Amino acid sequence: MGQGLTMSHVEHGSGLSHVEQGSGMSDVGQGSDVSLVGQGSSVSHVGQGFSPAFSDPGSLPIPAEAPGPRAAASYDAEFIVIGSGAGGGTVAARLAEVGFTVLLLEAGGDPRTLAGSNPHTPGTNTLPDDYDVPAFHALATENEALRWDFFVRHYADDVQQRRDPKYCETWNGARVDGVFYPRAGTLGGCTAHNALIFVYPHNEDWNAIADITGDRSWRAEEMRGYFERLENCNHRASERFRSRLGLNPSRHGWSGWLHTELAVPTAVFRDRDMRRALIDSARDILAGVGRPADDRARLESQGDPNDWRVVRDGAPGIRYTPLTTRDHARVGARERVLDVQQRHPDRLRIEMHALATRVLFDGTRAIGVEYRKGERLYRAHARPSDEDGEVRQAHASREVILAGGAFNTPQLLMLSGIGGHDDLAPHGIDQRVDLPGVGRNLQDRYEVGVVNRMAFDAWEALDGATFTRADRQYAEWTKRKRGVYATNGALLSVTLPSGPGRSVPDLFCYALLGKFAGYAPGYSQIVAEHHNYLTWVVLKGHTANTGGRVTLRSADPRDRPEVHFHYFDEGRHTGNDDVEAVVAGIEFVRKATATLKRDGQIAEEEVPGPGTDLRQFVRDHAWGHHASCTCPIGSRDHGGVLTSDFRVHGTEGLRVVDASVFPRVPGLFIASAVYMIGEKAADVISTAARR
Ligand SMILES: Cc1cc2nc3c(=O)[nH]c(=O)nc-3n(C[C@H](O)[C@H](O)[C@H](O)COP(=O)(O)OP(=O)(O)OC[C@H]3O[C@@H](n4cnc5c(N)ncnc54)[C@H](O)[C@@H]3O)c2cc1C
Repeated sequence: MGQGLTMSHVEHGSGLSHVEQGSGMSDVGQGSDVSLVGQGSSVSHVGQGFSPAFSDPGSLPIPAEAPGPRAAASYDAEFIVIGSGAGGGTVAARLAEVGFTVLLLEAGGDPRTLAGSNPHTPGTNTLPDDYDVPAFHALATENEALRWDFFVRHYADDVQQRRDPKYCETWNGARVDGVFYPRAGTLGGCTAHNALIFVYPHNEDWNAIADITGDRSWRAEEMRGYFERLENCNHRASERFRSRLGLNPSRHGWSGWLHTELAVPTAVFRDRDMRRALIDSARDILAGVGRPADDRARLESQGDPNDWRVVRDGAPGIRYTPLTTRDHARVGARERVLDVQQRHPDRLRIEMHALATRVLFDGTRAIGVEYRKGERLYRAHARPSDEDGEVRQAHASREVILAGGAFNTPQLLMLSGIGGHDDLAPHGIDQRVDLPGVGRNLQDRYEVGVVNRMAFDAWEALDGATFTRADRQYAEWTKRKRGVYATNGALLSVTLPSGPGRSVPDLFCYALLGKFAGYAPGYSQIVAEHHNYLTWVVLKGHTANTGGRVTLRSADPRDRPEVHFHYFDEGRHTGNDDVEAVVAGIEFVRKATATLKRDGQIAEEEVPGPGTDLRQFVRDHAWGHHASCTCPIGSRDHGGVLTSDFRVHGTEGLRVVDASVFPRVPGLFIASAVYMIGEKAADVISTAARR
């Protein structure tokens, strides 16, 4: 088989009127190949630019013990993975590493080679710094080359929705009718712009999945193994040393691919105001939290939230925030897939600027993907292209794995005819599999910021900081990988239960060196330009919300779906009121700043401000950024979309591996759990393939 052109007979029975079926029988490269897969016919570009090993199925290094289900057919790889974020990047890399051929399709480009500016310095290319520098993470979320802007509804009710100062009726001249929700459409997905916080989920999150599915491989004890496999912990030197002697009570990973570090900028200790703020806050916090029940766990863990002894005991207390950095620069799914691609170029093929538009089926068996080749094709992009892109197809001999994230994976399933009748019919999409759970069960955290203006002009550590490469903080980060830019701005965090009866701490409160009241267009500029603020963010985990939905806006795969979160409704009448829990968090962080206020260090609490009705404030201002659970593992009868081994109910050869898979949003920060399920999925998929 030569490069590029494959004639694949594929079924086109889904009635997706927007897809140019069978389009583009044009010359691409040399030669041609004919394969017979399913019914109907189409001719399309496939695998343009693939390495010869990928273009020629005969030369694919299929593990000898694992004959493919359609070994005789023409295909581009054994597995096609869509999306290179925390889930997709992890599973794609591991499958390739253990010997399978994988085609990874990613809608965006490489954040370190793209050029784009942010609202703080418009017109100037700020990549790759926005990607690399931990303190620039907010700028990364608004970098025009990486950003996919979603605008979501928290409430169906217009009056309530518009009370949120972050609500936008229009943005960039278009009606958006929602609250800004940043996403990254780039290699690495949201790990390319996230705040780098790496906090382990709660054991009960894993055990709950084991309980509902009866699949013991989800039990917390087992799941910890995936964390140990992927992590390369660099913030517990003495534990690392002990691990060499065969002792690993903290159950960290020491040789995985994801480096984790602690950024303690010397600048913080040099800054007298900051030192004092930290000490005073810690004292107030300890008075508020009380002495943790298991003092030993607290001492042994030394403030590390991911130490197994703390996780096992669900202990509350003051914690530092480990970051996914290596030598104090961002690392994530991008580095993982590029590393594996470099080591196994014959097995992992990454195709960027490839927007998957639907899954190709033979009956109910997924056999490939149709995608559009081109830059900035998705309309969530900051500068969406006017072009439609070139329609191509790629075929998998084994499986297709969806990992587009909690908004895009359900969209792609629905575009492929998998979903509830009422969700598909209005858009003229023929139903292939009746699966009404697709896009339902959307969940998130609730967060609010308590924003304090300090009684001085700038924190010493931020004095003169421009959040560009033109200042001494940047020089310090470049030369010594230290200073305030090595941090993500989080000084101190504390986990605590929001009230009695909570089995694990469900609040994560963290002190940020900056002004942050939530995501709204331009928020990164505010963060970069205000240097005398201390924001305590209250994050409520284990929320009760399950009523959110992702639905199609249209049958055009370039359109964003509609996203409705259905805030603060569920749980209200069952004693699990999330508003009350967030209010408890606000009251707690106010106590944490009591001494700073009394001593005049804090000039003013600007948000919510004294005298504000906190319950209404929470309803009006809360946001989230851990969208998940839209294709949950669970039985079909109960709205589940996936089996416990990530297979889409009613289909063969189709799985989902991203933040969509969870029945309930896990832990307090989600990326660690998504990376872990990526590793678990690679295990179950490769085991099944070798059977
Ligand atoms: C602003 C922000 C800050 C965050 N900070 C943290 C943090 O500090 N700690 C933490 O634990 N979590 C954080 N998160 C959350 C976390 O990063 C995400 O939940 C996680 O990355 C989700 O992983 P995923 O694999 O589900 O999707 P993603 O990481 O979003 O990856 C999905 C990928 O799929 C691609 N894609 C989508 N559709 C298609 C298609 N049709 N065709 C081809 N490609 C497609 C996208 O371009 C993207 O690359 C943050 C999130 C945001 C938005």
